[in-house]
Amino acid sequence: MGETKGTARRIKITNTMLAVLVVLACIILITAGFIVPRFGKTFAAYRTARAEYKAAEKEYTAAERTNAALAQKVKEMKQMKSESDKLQKKVFSLAAKTEKDIQDGKSNKKICYITIDDGPYNRGKKFLELFRQYDVKATFFLTTANGDKLPDQADLSAKSMYPEYLKYGHTIGNHTYSHDYRSVYSGSKAFMKAVEKQEKFTEEASGGYKAQIVRFPGGTGMAGSRLGAIQESLRKEGYGWVDWTVDSGDSWGNDKVNASLVKSNVLAASKKQNIMVVLFHEWSQTTVDALPEIIDSLRSSGYIFLPLFYDSVMVEK
Ligand SMILES: [Zn+2]
Repeated sequence: MGETKGTARRIKITNTMLAVLVVLACIILITAGFIVPRFGKTFAAYRTARAEYKAAEKEYTAAERTNAALAQKVKEMKQMKSESDKLQKKVFSLAAKTEKDIQDGKSNKKICYITIDDGPYNRGKKFLELFRQYDVKATFFLTTANGDKLPDQADLSAKSMYPEYLKYGHTIGNHTYSHDYRSVYSGSKAFMKAVEKQEKFTEEASGGYKAQIVRFPGGTGMAGSRLGAIQESLRKEGYGWVDWTVDSGDSWGNDKVNASLVKSNVLAASKKQNIMVVLFHEWSQTTVDALPEIIDSLRSSGYIFLPLFYDSVMVEK
């Protein structure tokens, strides 16, 4: 009886246990079948998200650091700009005084304003290096006739050259955006449009530099009957303009031009002028070759080499 009772109870317990086991098995199966993969998925997603967050956090920190470095750089550049503006003002007022002393016969110094037209060219770097070596300041009359491309190296941006000229203390002048005779000399409005477009390009490329001096493409002689109206418009907008007193001859055609001709053109003219503005071109390798001897020779006869400035006696306004 006891045994039967015991057996019955064992069976009863076993049934209950079985039921429990079945339920447990179901739970395990459900867990294994659904929850675990889901959790796994969730966990994997969590891990991905966490990695992404970490990467983003890293990027953010780096960006924050870059921003701080940029802010510092901007601050330093502003400081440098104000210092160089002050220095430039000093150079220009000294130059104005020297011009006046020369004209009044109080100084036996002579001034040579080297002007280089039609840039930026990649060759401009050769001029800059040469001027750095010879401690010479010059004036670059720039155009954007080729868009934002260097004509002698089309994969380089013209814009990138602008800060280079300024970095070495040269003057940037405005040679009109298109340099296209037919369009710029069709009227004073067209001329001013080409000047203002170039002005905008210069400002953008140089971080706000204002080129105040214009050189007419081909010189004022090319403007013909429109000259008066163009000059009036330039004056009204606060621009000065300058031709040249010496043509180096570097644009006279490849068959005629060589370094010794360019040199003799400049040196011959220098014998009659105490303040001269010499025309060169940034595309001319002949000029790059001729300049060292020209500079040496002019310097030994008392010339100093200055960048043009708005108040110079050589700048019409
Ligand atoms: Zn030109």
